[in-house]
Amino acid sequence: MSTTIPFNKPYMTGKELWYIAQAHTNGHLAGDGGFTRLSSGWLESRIGANRALLTHSCTAALEMAAILADLKPGDEVIMPSYTFVSTANAFALRGAVPVFVDIRADTLNIDETLIEAAITEKTRAIVPVHYAGVGCEMDAIMDIARRHNLLVIEDAAQGIMSSYKGRPLGSIGHMGCLSFHETKNIISGEGGALLINDLALVERAEVIREKGTNRSKYFRGQVDKYTWVDMGSSYLPSELVAAFLWAQMEEADSITRRRLDIWEIYHQWLAQSEQNGHARRPVVPAHCRHNAHMYYLLLPDLDRRTRFIRQLKELGIQTVFHYVPLDSAPRGQQCGRAHGELTHTRALSDRLVRLPVWCGLESEQQRVIQGVIATLAGFQ
Ligand SMILES: *Cc1c(COP(=O)(O)O)cnc(C)c1O
Repeated sequence: MSTTIPFNKPYMTGKELWYIAQAHTNGHLAGDGGFTRLSSGWLESRIGANRALLTHSCTAALEMAAILADLKPGDEVIMPSYTFVSTANAFALRGAVPVFVDIRADTLNIDETLIEAAITEKTRAIVPVHYAGVGCEMDAIMDIARRHNLLVIEDAAQGIMSSYKGRPLGSIGHMGCLSFHETKNIISGEGGALLINDLALVERAEVIREKGTNRSKYFRGQVDKYTWVDMGSSYLPSELVAAFLWAQMEEADSITRRRLDIWEIYHQWLAQSEQNGHARRPVVPAHCRHNAHMYYLLLPDLDRRTRFIRQLKELGIQTVFHYVPLDSAPRGQQCGRAHGELTHTRALSDRLVRLPVWCGLESEQQRVIQGVIATLAGFQ
């Protein structure tokens, strides 16, 4: 009896506990110590953001972005419905209205050709979500934002180490949000970062992150005492979390390479299943470099997806579906609205299933592949 292959298994590089011990020895356990500086410096140089601020989650980074966007109740924010709750909730917390538009059938990213028609006098921001670490059509989105004077906040929770036309995801909009949750590629258990590309937003972002105080300026010696200057909350992670994260960042290239190898092997082995019409494989446009955050298949319908997940479970392989579209969720119906028919959102969310991708899966991947191929063939 072989053990179940899990959908996700958090990968450790081996140095995490050593760096946590160093943070302990350094005697600085609160936020913004040496490991936070190393990690945010790494993000600034690798992604090319003007400023990277570590947060305790991507949710927190999105909430900071919503505060920085200065939203008033009733303001509208355009985003896909096919995304994680936090993409919408961060803005709903400010009283803003999430306006959901449909996704593209190929990448499952927001359909940039539908954004302009959803803009009203109340629209303030666009939030593209880079699904599976594959870039949205950022040139078109930035162009729309410029013409309508809107902010662009990239939900790059899944997008670290990916790029669009050579530009790293998270560095293209006015702000970008990353996640280091244990289900992502680079992890710290819970964790995230707000990337700020628009220099005008940096100073206020530091204040919002530090409970609304100018504490960051005080530590740089720019003011002689710190005080309450704006709204804010506590969004910074402890040094213990940053120490863990630094061990992961040091290995970010090799983690990404290993994941990409696993992704490519799935893609090659499942080409025949696609040709046979059993399932559709992910589409990555030629101008997008992805990070193998996810390998998914689109099955013909909900019934076959349900049977697929059940049959793979019987084979000892965990596969999972993904988002319930936010416009159809109870809270989404109360505080948001859909623009137009979300045809692809509806159809594709019922058909999508994700396969295991994690460093260490290599030795068992053939078992997953053979289970997937046999299950798909058995449906016909
Ligand atoms: C994971 C994820 C988030 C939330 O990240 P946390 O770090 O868990 O708060 C937000 N948006 C998307 C698209 C995600 O995949």
